[in-house]
Amino acid sequence: MNELKKKTIFELILKGFCPECHEGKITKGFIGMQRVCPHCHYNLNPEPGYYLGAMMVSFFAIALLTIPPVIFLKVSGADDRLIIGYPFVQYLILGPVFTHYSKVIWAHLGYRSTKKEDLRPKS
Ligand SMILES: [Zn+2]
Repeated sequence: MNELKKKTIFELILKGFCPECHEGKITKGFIGMQRVCPHCHYNLNPEPGYYLGAMMVSFFAIALLTIPPVIFLKVSGADDRLIIGYPFVQYLILGPVFTHYSKVIWAHLGYRSTKKEDLRPKS
């Protein structure tokens, strides 16, 4: 139990650990997700299309990394081909990475938003 508390949320997300037990790897390959945690059997896919919401996480992260540089390029008078091509090249490089981490972040958000605290006294 003490070992569980040592891992931060950032470490859990970066390494793809389970939000429930902090031990099982919830990613399968680079893009895939396990259906249940291999360590504690926590259900990582509670309903069909569960990870569609992860697209919003990926969208906002990509937008935060795309819009300011494009505004900077436009204001600094860069070539229009660079301004148009920059988001495409950036997405080719960062798209798979953000797809991977957005699913892990979505699994952790889902766990933390639905987790019920056990308020029963310990006996
Ligand atoms: Zn687990």
